[in-house]
Amino acid sequence: GKKAIIVGSGIAGLAASIRLSLKGYQVSVYEANSYPGGKLSEIKIDGYRFDAGPSLFTLPEQVEELFELAGKNTKDYFQYKRLAINCNYFWEDGTRLSAHSDVDKFADEVNKQLGEPKENTKKALKKSAYIYQHLAPLFMHRSLHKWSTWFNKKAFRSYLRMGKLGLFSTMNQANSLQFHHPKLVQLFNRYATYNGSDPYQTPATLNIIPHLEFNRGAYFPVKGMHDITSSLYGLAKELGVSFNFNQPVEKILVKNNRAIGIQTPSGDYFSDLVINNMDMVTAYKTILKEEVQPKRLLKQPKSSSALIFYWGIKKNFPELDLHNILFSNDYEKEFKTIFDKRDVYKDPTVYINITSIHKEDDAPDGCMNWFTMINVPNNQGQDWDKIKSKAKEFIIKKINNTLKTNIEPLIEVEHILDPIGIETKTSSANGALYGNSSNNKYAAFLRHPNYSSKINKLFFCGGSVHPGGGIPLCLLSAKIMADMIPNA
Ligand code: FAD
Repeated sequence: GKKAIIVGSGIAGLAASIRLSLKGYQVSVYEANSYPGGKLSEIKIDGYRFDAGPSLFTLPEQVEELFELAGKNTKDYFQYKRLAINCNYFWEDGTRLSAHSDVDKFADEVNKQLGEPKENTKKALKKSAYIYQHLAPLFMHRSLHKWSTWFNKKAFRSYLRMGKLGLFSTMNQANSLQFHHPKLVQLFNRYATYNGSDPYQTPATLNIIPHLEFNRGAYFPVKGMHDITSSLYGLAKELGVSFNFNQPVEKILVKNNRAIGIQTPSGDYFSDLVINNMDMVTAYKTILKEEVQPKRLLKQPKSSSALIFYWGIKKNFPELDLHNILFSNDYEKEFKTIFDKRDVYKDPTVYINITSIHKEDDAPDGCMNWFTMINVPNNQGQDWDKIKSKAKEFIIKKINNTLKTNIEPLIEVEHILDPIGIETKTSSANGALYGNSSNNKYAAFLRHPNYSSKINKLFFCGGSVHPGGGIPLCLLSAKIMADMIPNA
C-alpha cells in the first residue's frame, strides 16, 4: 500500500496520522521527543500532575470527529464535561466576577458586580456569534489558498460585511464602544491572548473568540488536557500507525520537486508523501533548508510566549476555580511592555489553572496543583534568567495583593517553563505559543498553506500554518490538509 511519513506528533500530527490511516495509507510518525503530543504533554512531580501546555478546551467536536470517523464511540476513549463557570476573575481592588457559561447568568453577574446593563453583555456575545457564523466557514474550515474558497456565494456575502466583522477597528476600540465599564472592556480584551495577540493592535474580528467559550462552551477532559493526546495516540496505534520516538528528522528528502522521504539519525525512510507537523519556520531553517524559502511568510511576527510556574501548593483556596485570572491594574501598559519592550510588566495579569479541583488525584489531599502563567514576549534573545527571577517576584506580589494571602511559604514543589524551554521541547520558533500573531489584519493570509506550492507530495499541519494555533485550529489544519489528499 501507499506510505505516508509524518514529521512530529503534536496534536495536528496525531490527527493527521488518524485521517491518513483511514484513507488507507500506511502511516509512520517520526518524533524527536520520547513522547507524543508536543506542547500538549504533562509533567509529574512529587505527587502532583500538571498539564504542561494548553489548559482551555473548546470545540470538543473536533476531537470527537476523529473517533467517529474511525467508527468508534468517543466515550469509550475520551470523556469530557462542560464547565458551569468558564473563569473566575479577580482585581486587586477586591472586585470579583464569576463568568458563568450560561449567558443570562453571566450577564446578571456582570450587572451585579460592575453595574453594566445586561443588554450590553448579551449583545456583545450575539455579535461574537455573528462574526463566527460568517468567518468560520471561510477562514477556519477551508484552505485559503484555493480559488474555490473565494469564489462562491457564501464568501461574497461575507465580503459585504467586512466592516461589521471588525476588520477595520482594533479589539480594544470595539470593546470600548460595546461596554461602559473598563473592567468589562479588560475582560473581553483578554480574548486576544487566546492566540497570543495584543488587543490594542489586533482587529476586532478576534471578538469571534468569546463565542466559542460562552455559546459553544468551555470543557474539561475528565482525565486532564493530556488525555486529548493520550486518547488520540491510542486510537492512532489501534489503527496501525507506527510511532518512532527519539527520532529527530534531519531532512525531508526531495527529488525532482517531489518529497520522497526523510533522513534521520537511524537512516533514510521513503514514502509516497511527507507531512510536516514541526513548526514551519524552524522546518525551513532545518529539514527544508536546501529548498526554496517562502521569505515573506517566514518573517511574519510571532505570537507571544508564556512563562509558567508549576507550583504544588499545600493549601486549599475555595475561591479559586479551574480557570482564574488576576488582572493587572494597567492592561494597556502590560501589553506595551510585552509587545513593544519585549519584557515582563511589573504588575502582570496572572492566570492560575488548577485541575485538581476537577481531578482530585492531580494533587495530594488538602493541596492544589497551580499552573501559574503570565504572558511574556517570545524569545528574542532576552536574558531569561533575569526575567524569570523578577517575574516570580511580580507574580507572587500580584497573588498576595489580590487574594490577601502569603503564597510563598505554601509552594512545596516548583518547576518552571520559559520561552527557551518551549522552543527546545517542541522546536517552536521563538518559543511562540501559537505560530504567527494575529496583530496584523492580514495575518490570516500570511500563514503557510497546508501544502507546499513548490514541492509535490509535501503537506503541512499544526499551529504555525493555516488556519492557526490552538488545539481546535490545529485539528482543523489536519482536516483541511487530509481533504486535499486522495485515498491511497
Ligand atoms: P506541537 O505541539 O508544536 O508539536 C510539534 C511536534 O513536532 C513536537 O512533538 C516536536 O518534538 C516535533 N518535532 C519538531 N521538530 C522535529 C523533528 N525535526 N523531527 C521529529 N519531530 C520533530 N491551545 C489551546 O487550544 N488552549 C490553550 O489553553 C492553550 N494554552 C497553551 C499554553 C502553553 C504554555 C502552550 C505552550 C501552548 C498553548 N496552546 C493552547 C497552544 C497549543 O498547545 C498548540 O497550538 C498546539 O498544541 C500545537 O500543536 P502542533 O500540532 O502544532 O504541534
